[in-house]
Amino acid sequence: MNKMNKQRADALGEPISTANSKLKKILLYEALQRLGEDFCYRCDRQIDNIEDLSIEHTKSWLYAENPKEVFFDTSGIAFSHRVCNSSAKKIFKGGISPLTGRISPRRKEGPEGTAWCHRCKTNRPIQEFTVDNSRWNNLRADCSSCRSEYRKNKEVS
Ligand SMILES: [Zn+2]
Ligand SMILES: [Zn+2]
Repeated sequence: MNKMNKQRADALGEPISTANSKLKKILLYEALQRLGEDFCYRCDRQIDNIEDLSIEHTKSWLYAENPKEVFFDTSGIAFSHRVCNSSAKKIFKGGISPLTGRISPRRKEGPEGTAWCHRCKTNRPIQEFTVDNSRWNNLRADCSSCRSEYRKNKEVS
C-alpha cells in the first residue's frame, strides 16, 4: 500500500478500493430506487435494504464461448435479494450448475425468438408457447399445438 492509500484507508477505516465499490453500490441502489427498479427478479418483491441487494448474471459467463462479452453484457444482469440468489443456486435454477457453470443437458436453447418443444422436438416461435413462470425461460416445455393435440388425444381415450 503506498503512503497516499494508507492515509486514505486510515481515514475511512477500510481500503480505498473497498470504500469505492461500496460507494458505487450505494449509487446504483439509489438509482434503482429512483427508477422504481429496486425489485427482485426472482421473487418480484422490493429490495428494501441495500445489504440485501445482489447483482447477478442471469447467463452463465464463465464457461461461455466468449466469457468477457457475456460478463459485460448488461442485458444479462438482474437484481435480486441476496437470499433469493443463493437459495436459487442450490436448486440449480435455469439448469445451470453453480459448481461448474455448465448448463444441464436437459435445457435446450433455440435461436433467438424460438423455444424448444419437448413434444414435437423442434424449435418453434415463442408466440406458440404459453407462460410458465416456474421454468428457466418462463415458457411451457411444449408448444400450444402439441398441447391441444395432447388434450384431444386424452379426450378420445
Ligand atoms: Zn427476492
Ligand atoms: Zn410442439
